[in-house]
Amino acid sequence: MENKLMEMKSFREIRGQEAAIGFLKKAISNDKIATAYLFTGIKGIGKSSTALAFALSLNCSNPVDNDGCRECQSCRRMINGNHPDLLIIDLREKKDSIAIEQIRDINREISFPPALDGYRVIIIKSAEKMTVEAANAFLKTLEEPPSNNIFILNAADTGQLLPTIISRCQKIYFRPINEREIEEFLINNNDVDEARAKIAARLSEGSIGQAKIFAQDDFFSDRIDWITMLHNVITSPFASLFDIAQKFINKGNPKDNRMNLMLRVWRSLYRDMLLIKYGGLQDFIINFDFKEQLESSSSAFTIDGLLQSISIIVRAERDLMANLNVLFLIERSLFALKRVVNSA
Ligand SMILES: [Zn+2]
Repeated sequence: MENKLMEMKSFREIRGQEAAIGFLKKAISNDKIATAYLFTGIKGIGKSSTALAFALSLNCSNPVDNDGCRECQSCRRMINGNHPDLLIIDLREKKDSIAIEQIRDINREISFPPALDGYRVIIIKSAEKMTVEAANAFLKTLEEPPSNNIFILNAADTGQLLPTIISRCQKIYFRPINEREIEEFLINNNDVDEARAKIAARLSEGSIGQAKIFAQDDFFSDRIDWITMLHNVITSPFASLFDIAQKFINKGNPKDNRMNLMLRVWRSLYRDMLLIKYGGLQDFIINFDFKEQLESSSSAFTIDGLLQSISIIVRAERDLMANLNVLFLIERSLFALKRVVNSA
């Protein structure tokens, strides 16, 4: 069971999820704790932080406004990552599903009462990634849960969860966080300058976790490469596309997240060109530092062409999640994007 040290926040430190947190605090103050919760919402908006903060406050011997005090023995053990009644299940390294053994580990553990006086909290991250066997085993656990165990399932995509699991959970929705809040968070907590914070916040689509990645130096220099790369795709002959694709592959580990980030940036560029084409509010341009270049590139497209290009990218993002070969995906996308330019 991996109980690796994670940053343990309290409710009061979590941004933008007042509704979800208010609901949980109320459950604590009314002593109406459900056996299982399902936290849903996009990646990086505070589902895990909230699950941990909930575990903290549930077992705190001295709660302040239904929030963990961070000083009692239970809080300290949780913060130090050695509380015996906090179990965290997540995808194992290099695995893309939660295996039945991981659920069996939980079942073994919960066959004993919690080690300390309070609740045992079991957090299952990426719960939608349970294999069919794991999900069925877990369903059995949920059907007859031993007392004083609380399950928190986190899932970005509930469509992949068994409906019979969903129906046994109290569902809590985590909303995307608004741009302005993310921007302020980056400026105040991560020491990011204003222009960069604005771009990162706009690219993040409401996820603080993603925004933090977008605000990093590495991402920012890659972003410029990717903008240049797309410019080359639009302006160079078809024959050079193989070369452009190969160069991208050579630059990094194809299994890492770069392709995903690049597609996100590209999608934002087409979206900006669409905004320019429609004469929309220039204040809403994401990549405002490349505004002039976007204005001139947009003249190579019709509105239909831009919409089509966005669909090509969305399809690539989906296929990437389905683990299609990265070189194949990138070549296919480059050719499709190039064809749209030429058909204009
Ligand atoms: Zn405490």
